[in-house]
Amino acid sequence: MFSKFVLNTAFLFFVLTAFAQTDTGEKINTKLVKVSNKIYMLQGNGGNIGLSFGNDGVFMIDDQFAEDIEEIQKQIKKMSDKPVRFLVNTHFHGDHTGGNAAMAQTGAVIFSQENVRKRLQGMIQRDTKKIPEEALPVVTFSEDLTFHYNGEKIYVFHVHNAHTDGDAMVYFTSSNVLHTGDVFFNGKYPFIDIENGGSLKGSIEALGKARLIINEDTKIIPGHGNLGTYKDLQKTENMLSVVYKRVYANYLNKKTEDEVAKMTDITKEYDAEGYGTGFISTEAFLRMIYKSVAGERKSIENNAEKNKQAREKVEKMMKEQEHKKKN
Ligand SMILES: [Zn+2]
Repeated sequence: MFSKFVLNTAFLFFVLTAFAQTDTGEKINTKLVKVSNKIYMLQGNGGNIGLSFGNDGVFMIDDQFAEDIEEIQKQIKKMSDKPVRFLVNTHFHGDHTGGNAAMAQTGAVIFSQENVRKRLQGMIQRDTKKIPEEALPVVTFSEDLTFHYNGEKIYVFHVHNAHTDGDAMVYFTSSNVLHTGDVFFNGKYPFIDIENGGSLKGSIEALGKARLIINEDTKIIPGHGNLGTYKDLQKTENMLSVVYKRVYANYLNKKTEDEVAKMTDITKEYDAEGYGTGFISTEAFLRMIYKSVAGERKSIENNAEKNKQAREKVEKMMKEQEHKKKN
């Protein structure tokens, strides 16, 4: 009887330590994955966290949701008794920056591309209770930035109008590990935040830029999904280009968004590989691509219309001049 009680208590203790309870009552289960000697990936409810552990301290990329940060901090403490000195946000979304304020309170200095700070500031202005001021990055950059930390150069670079308008990727040059932020969802259709400056074209270009910087042996921490390789990243880049071309052709053929959303042929080979089983379903993905193509075409069509108006204006002026000469 007694031993059974002890066993139950021990089991309960195990359950409580393995899963932290969130405010919503949902269980969170974090997983620490070793990427190289000193680089780890922490997976949980939000976007993947990148961590570098070394003599200088801890370097962190993204921090998931506010309600999960205590559990995340516990996991980091298990690996190192040194503090997190620097934290880089890959973009402004709440599943990557939710833990910012709590991290800042422990002394971490937060870095981001300048548009991340602007977008977070906008959110604070709209709803002051949701995000505290301490969540704002204190150091911002426009193009790139290099840390000299834990025995290597850590290169942080901006990719333009990809997942959002403030995306940064982080490359650990000696460890040969890249964190892509949400520009890359490994093996799944990505989310492109068009309303916040993201674009399909920019996403394809961003993956191309990443490939220029890394090499075929690089290990890749994606924004979401499991650890990836150069080939995985290239596959997503190709998938985006192929789907882009197909949707573009249908747009030019005057197909509507609803019609394209039902064209399962466009994504057939990728659906078969499970690309549509992540957060973004095939239909949502097709609608997103359609909107991105439509936006791109609208600006081309607007410019063509403005050019036509300018030509008509000049033609009218010349006719008037001729008329004057004759009289
Ligand atoms: Zn995101």
